[in-house]
Amino acid sequence: MWWGHRIPVWYCKECSNINVFDDDYFDSLEEKTIFNIYGDTRISQFFSYNELSDYLYSQNFTHEDKTNLEFYEKIVFRKEINGLKKENLKEFLDKTYKKIPVLNSENNEHFIGFPPHAVFYLYINNLLPRSFTVDDLIKAYKNHKKELKDIFTVFLSGIKKTEIFENKETLKQWLIDHSYGNCPNGRIFFSEVDGVFSVIEENIKDVKYFIDLKCEKCGSRVLAQEEDVLDTWFSSALWPFGTLGWPEKTPELQKYYPTSLLVTGFDIIFFWVARMIMMGLYFTKEKPFSDVYIHALVRDEKGEKMSKTKGNVIDPLDMAEKYGADSLRFTLAALAAQGRDIRLSEKRIEGYRNFANKIWNASKYVLQNVKNFNGNIIQDITSLELSAEDKWIVSKLQKIISNLENAINSYRYNDYANGAYDFFWHEYCDWYLEFTKERVYKGSDKDKQVALSTLIYVLDKSLRILHPVMPFITEEIWQQLPTKDKDYLSIAEYPKVNQNLIFENEENIIESLKELITAIRAARAEFGVQPSQKINIYIKPENEEIEKVLISLKNAVANLVKADKLEISQDLTEMKNMATAISSIGQAYLDIAGAVDVEKELERQEKLLKETEKYISIIEKKLSNENFV
Ligand SMILES: [Zn+2]
Repeated sequence: MWWGHRIPVWYCKECSNINVFDDDYFDSLEEKTIFNIYGDTRISQFFSYNELSDYLYSQNFTHEDKTNLEFYEKIVFRKEINGLKKENLKEFLDKTYKKIPVLNSENNEHFIGFPPHAVFYLYINNLLPRSFTVDDLIKAYKNHKKELKDIFTVFLSGIKKTEIFENKETLKQWLIDHSYGNCPNGRIFFSEVDGVFSVIEENIKDVKYFIDLKCEKCGSRVLAQEEDVLDTWFSSALWPFGTLGWPEKTPELQKYYPTSLLVTGFDIIFFWVARMIMMGLYFTKEKPFSDVYIHALVRDEKGEKMSKTKGNVIDPLDMAEKYGADSLRFTLAALAAQGRDIRLSEKRIEGYRNFANKIWNASKYVLQNVKNFNGNIIQDITSLELSAEDKWIVSKLQKIISNLENAINSYRYNDYANGAYDFFWHEYCDWYLEFTKERVYKGSDKDKQVALSTLIYVLDKSLRILHPVMPFITEEIWQQLPTKDKDYLSIAEYPKVNQNLIFENEENIIESLKELITAIRAARAEFGVQPSQKINIYIKPENEEIEKVLISLKNAVANLVKADKLEISQDLTEMKNMATAISSIGQAYLDIAGAVDVEKELERQEKLLKETEKYISIIEKKLSNENFV
């Protein structure tokens, strides 16, 4: 029974009992469905085949791609309802339901009345043979007296000529009067031969099937359904506490009511949100929630509303099938900027699928090397002698934890998703993993222990951070972590900022190092050095501390800038005929002589110089003109 439709309450006219009927009253899915359709006032309690089939096979009001039968099959019961299929319906109804005759009144408007209906009712429900005597009829009537009276009181309201069945002689006379040759008004129901009467079936215009509801207290069928209708949103309004066992004072109600956040669309703020607040205040004296997050509407990549006719619908199930549920979920979170509609495109989902792959591959690198390592992974990394890059990544991590916490607390889901993405991909994978390779592959046991413990520490926290937006892949990986402290990641603790792991100095050094590497890469590109071509590079660090860090990361840096020979020394003197890259932690000299055509490059640079000089002289002329300034 749906809310917003007739209330499933039937009043007994005989004993005043209030009957509440629901699906459980009926055995088969077919009967449950028909009862629902009746309770929904789509058909009457006495329904014809056509009335029912018209409804079953017509389009559903809210699900335009389904018939009403399919709606019950796919959405309500999620099962085939075979008896109601077109080819089975007639047989199913005849087998399952009692029938009421609709007598043929076309020739005579006085045709309808209790006695003929009663006889035909008994006959079509196999309670009386086609040919019968007066005694047969009286016997059948007595056996089903209450049933007949009840049903006809409801079906033929006001017709009460039941007394005719009480007197054998009167009944016999009535039967004779309504037989061939005896009926002055043409009200012929029977043939009669020697006191044996036979039903004439042509008198039946149609039959109606009958949903047989009986008062649960006195058994009467004289029931009337409540005509009031509950507000469509009535039960939805009770949802915040109705789902927790209210009106009982259950532990669930105590723990989860009131709740903190409701997430919904803007179109039902008044219908639903306002009603929940009113009902909550009325019944529990408390508001049901404190925050309401009004989520965005999903549109296509051009910002147009998705519609079947436009053909721009992106089916989430297709996308989950194709790119994984994590990628789809992450995409929606990453695009959910407050106050804006989501412009969804398949390309975005594909892009975040690549992110999922990145998480998988990075984790594989870490876990594989942990597996190959003979020592222990240290959980409390503050006890380790961390290198500058270790300190940099854990320090960065503390800051991202704090940023993301702010983002999620203020419902900026896009900032959350994008922040987690940037940290994991562009700090942890792009840089930190590269920095660790030397120690992980070639380091001493102690070096390995520090690097792997830090890798695991950051991976563990990253998975906890990513879990809300990428639940499946993170859970899968987390199950394999040596630092796993709960059965499931979904119930593990969200990371907290550890002030002891914030290292401003190392953060600055590594950030500057990244800058230097980026500058070297830019210089290579600028001079047209092929990306795969290795060249000699010389770096002159600003001071001793930086020199130490750089030397410790020498191989990683060499790899990142594709250096054949990499020399790092504060004692380097200025080097001629080399390309330079400058950053706040030092200068780099790139020996590009062998890698590029020097003559050509000189020519290009000279041309550039001339152009620049020309430009400067124009500007100077302009500036020396007092009128211009
Ligand atoms: Zn009753």
